[in-house]
Amino acid sequence: MTLTPDTPLARRVAPSPNHGPRQGTRPDMLILHYTGMESGAAALARLRDPLGEVSAHYLVFEDGGIVQLVPEAARAWHAGAGAWKGVTDVNSRSIGIEIVHPGHAGGLPPYPEAQIAAVTALARDIVSRWAIPADRVLAHSDIAPGRKEDPGETFPWGRLAADGVGHHVPEVPLRDGRFFAEGDSGQPIEALQAMLALYGYEQPLTGTFDRHMRDVVTAFQRHFRQARVDGIADASTITTLRDLIASRPS
Ligand SMILES: [Zn+2]
Repeated sequence: MTLTPDTPLARRVAPSPNHGPRQGTRPDMLILHYTGMESGAAALARLRDPLGEVSAHYLVFEDGGIVQLVPEAARAWHAGAGAWKGVTDVNSRSIGIEIVHPGHAGGLPPYPEAQIAAVTALARDIVSRWAIPADRVLAHSDIAPGRKEDPGETFPWGRLAADGVGHHVPEVPLRDGRFFAEGDSGQPIEALQAMLALYGYEQPLTGTFDRHMRDVVTAFQRHFRQARVDGIADASTITTLRDLIASRPS
C-alpha cells in the first residue's frame, strides 16, 4: 500500500490498515488523543496492527517527529463511540492525531516542548487546509465523556490557542461560592445542562445532576478549566463555560 503524505510536516509514513471510507461529508473536526502507552514504538505498532482495529491519521512523538498512518481523505478508526453537536459518526467527520504520552496511568507528565510545537504546527496545517472551525478542535474526552480522558488535563490547550489552534478562554480563577454536584436537581441544573449542550457536549436536559453530567463536567474541566478536575460545577467552571460560549467564533 502506498501512502503519500498530506503535509510536508509528516517526514515519515507508516501505513495502517485500520481505516475505511468516510460516510458522507468531508472532515470538519480535529480530535486530539494521547496514546497512553509506555513508548512511541509500542504505540506505532498498535496503531498498525490489523487485530487492534484502531488508528489515527497521525502519530506525534516526544521529539516532535510526525508519522502519517492513514490518508486524511480516509476514515481512520480513532474516536469510537461518542458525539459532539449531534454528530455521532465522529470518525467520518474528523481527522485524528495521536500524541505519544503515557497518559493518566503513567502519571500524566507534562508534554515535551518539541512535541507540543509539532502538534501545534500539524494542527494548524490541517485546520487551514480543511477550514476546520476553531471550536471543533477537540479532546477525545470532549466527545466521549466518562469513556475517554485523553489527552488529559496537562495538555496545554491555552498555548495552542495562543498559536492559532482551537477555541479557548482564560480560566476563571477558583473561588468559594455556590456550586452544583452529583445528586442536585432543579432549574439551575437544567440551565447548566443547556449551556453544556449549547457548546457541543452530549448532555440531555434532564434537570438532574447525574453520573453522566458529572462525566461531562469533568470532560469540560480537562479541556477548559484544568486547575481542578473533579466533576463539580463550581463558580469558576460555570463562568469559564459562559465566557467560552460568549466568545465562540461565529
Ligand atoms: Zn483517544
